Amino acid sequence: MGDAGASKTPLKIAIIGGGIGGLSLLLGILNHGDPRVIQPHLYEAALAFAEIGAGVGFLPNAVRAMYAIDPKLHEAYGRIADEAPRADVNGQQKYVFSKVYMGMEGRGSGMAKAFDEIGTVYNDNKLRNVHRAVFLDEMVKLLPNSLEADLVSFGKRCTDIRIHDAGVTVAFSDGTSEIVDAVIGCDGVKSVVRNILHQGQEKYEPCFTGNYAYRGLVPIEDATEALGEIAAVHHILILGYGGHLVTFPIKQGKTLNVVAFHGRSDWPHGNSWVVRATVEDALEDFKDWSEPIKKLLSLLQRPDKWGLFDLPPLKTYTLDGRICLLGDCAHASTPHQGAGAGMAIEDAAVLSRVLGEIKTPDRVQLTRAFAAYDAVRRDRTQKVVTRSRTRGMLYDFELSGVGDDLEKVRDTLSTQWDWIWDLDIDAHCREALGIMHQTHMVGNDSP
Ligand SMILES: Cc1cc2nc3c(=O)[nH]c(=O)nc-3n(C[C@H](O)[C@H](O)[C@H](O)COP(=O)(O)OP(=O)(O)OC[C@H]3O[C@@H](n4cnc5c(N)ncnc54)[C@H](O)[C@@H]3O)c2cc1C
Repeated sequence: MGDAGASKTPLKIAIIGGGIGGLSLLLGILNHGDPRVIQPHLYEAALAFAEIGAGVGFLPNAVRAMYAIDPKLHEAYGRIADEAPRADVNGQQKYVFSKVYMGMEGRGSGMAKAFDEIGTVYNDNKLRNVHRAVFLDEMVKLLPNSLEADLVSFGKRCTDIRIHDAGVTVAFSDGTSEIVDAVIGCDGVKSVVRNILHQGQEKYEPCFTGNYAYRGLVPIEDATEALGEIAAVHHILILGYGGHLVTFPIKQGKTLNVVAFHGRSDWPHGNSWVVRATVEDALEDFKDWSEPIKKLLSLLQRPDKWGLFDLPPLKTYTLDGRICLLGDCAHASTPHQGAGAGMAIEDAAVLSRVLGEIKTPDRVQLTRAFAAYDAVRRDRTQKVVTRSRTRGMLYDFELSGVGDDLEKVRDTLSTQWDWIWDLDIDAHCREALGIMHQTHMVGNDSP
């Protein structure tokens, strides 16, 4: 196959959505791509880049992927991330990933009491959590003056995408449209781009997982009154029957991020997946929990309630070199492995590397790049979705064969992380580049 789709003008790529995924991709393309070959432009529905006022934790794989996107992103993250405390584990220096406690009285004889320590999970990750909005701000600062560089448009809600011989027309809710060579959907779990990619095929609707979560921040001085000094230092996982809590300090230890998961629930709020909640709602749902938990929940500032939805496994993340999906729009998961945003960052590292490999403005190469990305990313990201659900059941004492057997809970807590944490992102990118070149060779051999 020759360069049938080659042209002298750069390939125009529309990135739909400017969350952590879309911005990571834009930064990656600016770092790895040749501007004479690839011209990205990000279209965001909102009037400005915005993230919610809550924390996000990054695992070691995500931190390495930031470096692969752009060392400047890694450096910016390093400036704002809270550090994990260190511990000596059998003569080896490790970082404490999570301290795990019981959140309520155990049921049955010999069970743990509320606030008994269940275990500690260690890893090699020095840097962890950030405030989402602060992280997003740091990403935006890394963009060249975006208006001058014509990189970003706000108030652009994508409503439709049409593929034709001249390219792809993207329509927006303000009545405007753009013709581009390809569209990359980074528009989150309710993605419009995903629906268009799978038009006429099986529809991939997000499913309610039966869980919701209260999310809010608490000033650290108040939080330590409820949970003790450990709250200011550690990532804490608090287990219970039919629910669990995760807390961690952000903003250099000034604020506690609190997420309280409640299981076996309905979601009567229709298409609104984030709704305002009150402290009273949270206290009602957690009325059987121990006093420190109730005290903590009573301190939540302006809590929201998040319905937790995840996606069934998509058959593909790409269509003919014209549409590609990244982040939550491709593989939204529950947050029990703290890996969703990290997966979006890994996606961006791989996709920007394969796009950077395109040396002439040639649509055929876009097809190869997207196919290579799809080949290396789909299994890993979909594994996160299924494993994350299982992890949630473990934390709620509902995992079959484990239940509330604390020995088994303890044993399982430290396992099943390595496949996420240990990803060698450079090898992963090389694998994608290998596939891209392989399909190139096969293409050249074809009549
Ligand atoms: C309670 C909770 C806790 C979590 N904790 C963690 C954690 O600790 N660590 C972790 O790694 N992950 C965590 N996650 C997951 C993480 O938040 C997501 O995986 C991540 O934010 C996804 O990023 P994204 O850019 O793909 O999508 P989003 O953040 O949803 O961004 C999508 C963007 O697209 C825009 N948009 C939407 N539709 C359109 C359209 N039609 N046209 C144009 N723009 C559009 C939106 O305005 C938005 O800016 C958590 C999730 C939840 C719910």
